[in-house]
Amino acid sequence: MDFEPSDRAKDLSGRVRAFMDEHIYPQELEIEAALDREVNTTTAFPEILVEIRKQAKAEGLWNLFLPDEEDGPGLSNVDYGIVNEEIGRATIPAAYAFNCQPPDSGNMEILVEHANPAQRERWLMPLLEGDIRSCFSMTEPETSGNDPTGLKCRAERDGDDWVINGRKWWTTNALGASVAIVMAVTDPDAAPHKRATMLLVPTDAPGFNMVRPLSNMGHVDGPGHWEIAYEDCRVPVAEATLNEVGSGFKVAQDRLGPGRIHHCMRLIGVAERALEMMCERAQSREMFGTQLSDRQFIQDFIATSRAEIDQAKLLTLNAAWKLDQVGNREARRELSVTKLVVPKTVLTIVDRAIQVFGGAGVSEDTPLSWMYRYNRMLRIGDGGDEVHKQVIARFELKKAAARTADQTPVATG
Ligand SMILES: Cc1cc2nc3c(=O)[nH]c(=O)nc-3n(C[C@H](O)[C@H](O)[C@H](O)COP(=O)(O)OP(=O)(O)OC[C@H]3O[C@@H](n4cnc5c(N)ncnc54)[C@H](O)[C@@H]3O)c2cc1C
Repeated sequence: MDFEPSDRAKDLSGRVRAFMDEHIYPQELEIEAALDREVNTTTAFPEILVEIRKQAKAEGLWNLFLPDEEDGPGLSNVDYGIVNEEIGRATIPAAYAFNCQPPDSGNMEILVEHANPAQRERWLMPLLEGDIRSCFSMTEPETSGNDPTGLKCRAERDGDDWVINGRKWWTTNALGASVAIVMAVTDPDAAPHKRATMLLVPTDAPGFNMVRPLSNMGHVDGPGHWEIAYEDCRVPVAEATLNEVGSGFKVAQDRLGPGRIHHCMRLIGVAERALEMMCERAQSREMFGTQLSDRQFIQDFIATSRAEIDQAKLLTLNAAWKLDQVGNREARRELSVTKLVVPKTVLTIVDRAIQVFGGAGVSEDTPLSWMYRYNRMLRIGDGGDEVHKQVIARFELKKAAARTADQTPVATG
């Protein structure tokens, strides 16, 4: 195992840090507010981000997540992990600055792998350039997001078109997006994992109806998390079908594997920043005649958080390394362990930081409240904790069963 970042990753993370010091931290809360205020159906990025993005692109700090060397910088997962930790410190504004924001990053990854030349030209290239945004529309209100074999949203052939009918929700960043990648059932009679197909649906297609933004603990989060009604939404089969008909589950898995680890890498940055904030606050707050940092309760918060971040970081780098060595499928156990442990751990650390800040911690005057909201969601999205526990338990039980089968029966009596 080698978690030593390459010289390139060291250089990039240093440049990302310097860029964030200059362009992101001083206006972080303003960028968040501008995302809430300015994004609409015809405006993908608020003015303040347009300028910052231009600068980041000019400096080559762009599409850093893409492991593909033709369309991106070709960083390994370990290297991107190091860079992404920096980005995670101001997750939303920074990811936008470097065109690494989800769901676009995951969507670009699957387009790189699965789009045909015309789809590349129409959707991937403008996404890579940062000219448009996209969204990913899989989860439905009526069926379990953790079990997409139950999806109901239907796409039926009518001549050369697909006609889509169904309801999706939690379609993040739909407002201002130009295209949605929609997972729809194309053959309800096929085997469960062959029923669905990913379809590229322009958001101005008739029948793509935005119903309402859902709030994430009271916040719409800028471009929002939308409920979408697909009502006789008609798209040409040749243009819309991503990869083969029936390959929706495979494409979804390709998207979710690295995406899970990207989230965890960013969360390490969140945790580091929350710990720094916790320490600074404890050292600057005086009460009952002493600094808060002199209290053992608070020192316990600090020391435990340090130990937990180190553990979480090693787990994440280990999963990234495994992903680099053997790919998505073979790294499944490590991905699940990391996705189970990191969001939960980081949530506790952010919670401690909020506690140390008192009332200020739950206000919008510090980044702690978005850290908490964002983090809490990650125990649900991309496979909930219980689903990952199930995956891990299955591996262990399989190993135990194999051990038992190998044992020579012991003669008794
Ligand atoms: C802020 C936010 C953004 C999102 N963005 C997107 C997006 O862009 N696109 C998109 O398609 N979706 C998105 N989602 C949806 C997300 O992926 C789903 O919420 C997630 O997959 C869970 O699905 P569900 O909500 O239907 O919960 P369910 O599948 O109904 O699960 C509910 C609970 O059941 C329990 N459970 C599930 N499986 C098991 C099991 N095997 N054993 C024991 N218990 C179990 C768990 O406690 C789980 O949390 C987003 C969600 C949020 C909150």
